[in-house]
Amino acid sequence: MEDVFSQGDELGPLKVIHVQEPSIGLKATLVIDNVALGPSVGGVRMAADVSTVECARLARAMTLKNAAAGLNHGGGKAVLYGDPKMPLDKKEQLIRGMACALREAEQYIFAPDMGTDEECMAWVKDEIGRVVGLPCEIGGIPLDQVGATGWGLSHVTEIAAKHIGMELDGARLVVQGFGAVGKNTARFLKEKGVVLVATADSKGTIYNENGLDIAELLELKKEGKSVIESKSGKVLEAEKIIDVECDVWVPAARPDIITEKNMQRLKTRLVVEGANIPITYGAEKYLHEKGILCIPDFIANAGGVICAATEYQGKCEKEAFVAIEEKLRANSSLVLEKSSQEKVLPRDAAVAFAVQRVKKAMGYKRWGLF
Ligand code: NAD
Repeated sequence: MEDVFSQGDELGPLKVIHVQEPSIGLKATLVIDNVALGPSVGGVRMAADVSTVECARLARAMTLKNAAAGLNHGGGKAVLYGDPKMPLDKKEQLIRGMACALREAEQYIFAPDMGTDEECMAWVKDEIGRVVGLPCEIGGIPLDQVGATGWGLSHVTEIAAKHIGMELDGARLVVQGFGAVGKNTARFLKEKGVVLVATADSKGTIYNENGLDIAELLELKKEGKSVIESKSGKVLEAEKIIDVECDVWVPAARPDIITEKNMQRLKTRLVVEGANIPITYGAEKYLHEKGILCIPDFIANAGGVICAATEYQGKCEKEAFVAIEEKLRANSSLVLEKSSQEKVLPRDAAVAFAVQRVKKAMGYKRWGLF
């Protein structure tokens, strides 16, 4: 078993809980990283190849994201081993089993992540009640449908553009990944005059230097088709999205997309990270030195978790959107200010202020971690 405690530090992890029930093929891990700010929130990731180490990394990312967003929640994450596309009745059994096995882990609030959705959260609610990201019929705010994370990214982009003296009206946008995060970012930025010149999904890239038809792209996605079926642009390979010249580049697909191997190819002025860990630290450093501003993931994409926390307080979608806008505009301004003043990467500035908040909260406790 991987030893995540030896890789831990003064912030955590507080608890690592493994559960299994061989009779139904259930195997899952929960990492509660830090609860100094309140009960931890973080999604349940379901995939065949998850690991305890991945779970611990993601739990720490949630500690920082929740702290930076000013939420009264600590960070946690759970992983469930299995193919998320398995027959639904089997998946339901695993999710319900996992929820029951973790019934006593009261410092963790379940939420959706890759491989799980609001229906899965409804099963968790039915079993143990401690969950966010529910279907709207039972009090949830469907955060992917309403575009909570994209809404936040559009505000962060506006603040960052202002910081580098870039006019958003007419700015060229490239979005990698046209899913819940990517498509809503494009949709909200269009309202600010931004022109989407290229986007990609796993099938390929679609490109038009004069602008793509976002309404058509949204319709294609609704029908379960790829963006490359759009008639508004030229089709390129998926990977070519990195080479398209633009003013704003938004990764909204997978981790580790820009690395030391391909970082020279980006031709943009601003990167706003929609996906989690889409750019390696070394590549972010290189881009910073080249004068390309990168807004780190846990600052830029916190709209989803702010929406979830708002739902947990029993508030509505409108209140979630107001909270996302206020918090992310203030946070991105703060990070940019600190980064300029202290001449450090925006990520380093952001980590420093998130850690400071967690440590301050830990200081009010008899023991720091619990
Ligand atoms: P999604 O599954 O709805 O969309 C992902 C998109 O990426 C799809 O269009 C898919 O085809 C595309 N894609 C996959 N591989 C690709 C590739 N190699 N090249 C180009 N496109 C590719 O997922 P999502 O919810 O939009 O999440 C996207 C990323 O943002 C993930 O890293 C996720 O962890 C992160 N994130 C999501 C939220 C949220 O609110 N959903 C919040 C914070 C962070």
